[in-house]
Amino acid sequence: MHIRDIFKQQRTTFSFEFFPPKSAEAAGKLFDTIAELESLRPTFVSATYGAGGSTRELTNDLVVRLRDETSLNPMPHLTCLGHSESEIHAILERYARHDIGNILALRGDPPRDQPDYDRAADAFGYASDLVAAIRRFNDSGTHPNPSGFGIGVAGFPEGHPETPNRLRELDLLKAKVDEGADFIITQLFFDNRDFYDFRDRCRLAGISVPIIAGIMPITSAPGMARMADLAQGARFPAAVIRAIKRTGGDPEAVQRVGVHWATEQCRDLLDHDVDGIHFYTLNRSRATREVYTTLGVRDSMDLQ
Ligand code: FAD
Repeated sequence: MHIRDIFKQQRTTFSFEFFPPKSAEAAGKLFDTIAELESLRPTFVSATYGAGGSTRELTNDLVVRLRDETSLNPMPHLTCLGHSESEIHAILERYARHDIGNILALRGDPPRDQPDYDRAADAFGYASDLVAAIRRFNDSGTHPNPSGFGIGVAGFPEGHPETPNRLRELDLLKAKVDEGADFIITQLFFDNRDFYDFRDRCRLAGISVPIIAGIMPITSAPGMARMADLAQGARFPAAVIRAIKRTGGDPEAVQRVGVHWATEQCRDLLDHDVDGIHFYTLNRSRATREVYTTLGVRDSMDLQ
């Protein structure tokens, strides 16, 4: 089902993000996590696409398995990086055959070991080009759903480092929506004021599609350091760092602080009529389940 149609029935969406497992053992663990999260009845779940398409097959396998073996509505991420037009077309055909309803269209970052990666060989330079390609695919009528794939794109509440001009950045975000994106999922953030200001700026720029807030409960100090590296544009406020420091590094206490912070963010977002909340689960269930428990709800439907 298209996420844009879900928004017509549901006031707020709740979704979980997973990365594709690279071994049979990791796959076993991930599906244990998924079994624990399924009862929270997320609106959809998404599967990332490794840097430079490094998890191309794995993302496909995860999404198809989620579709076949669970009650979940899976959405693959797809990036421009390293792909020709015909490769993108083949990937879209495969997802259409499996009746996948939505795709998150991204530009993607080069793999870490290729900092000088030359994008000139990529058929699509920016996510907006990929959105346009998916829309063309939709128009071709290949998808079993007559309106083709629903399309999501990324947004950066605190800005994307490559476009320091924040006004231009919104024009470029609007271009993705004008090309056919139905909704935006944001980079993780820890200060809701950044999200509200971004949402206001989007509305002022004429971007009216739903904006889903990206939330990552901090589960460990090393995990936070890794995230700071991966999450471009995300700021770690002093209050978060202070709260983590107060734990003296006790892993249980760090997790409690992380869940408390994320729960407060979610409660406040719900009070401010957020369109959706997307949990970066890091393939673990505990923190997300604890956020739901601390909010006092059984599942996503209680949050409507
Ligand atoms: P774009 O929208 O193309 O923007 C990239 C930069 O180029 C921005 O600074 C933008 O302002 C600028 N720009 C856009 N259009 C133009 C133009 N026409 N001319 C000049 N400048 C332009 N990465 C992965 O590899 N795999 C994933 O699965 C993945 N999932 C993600 C999920 C979410 C929710 C988010 C927020 C990010 C994800 N990323 C993923 C990271 C993402 O690919 C990178 O942050 C990337 O640098 C930006 O992607 P984008 O889709 O926003 O790109």
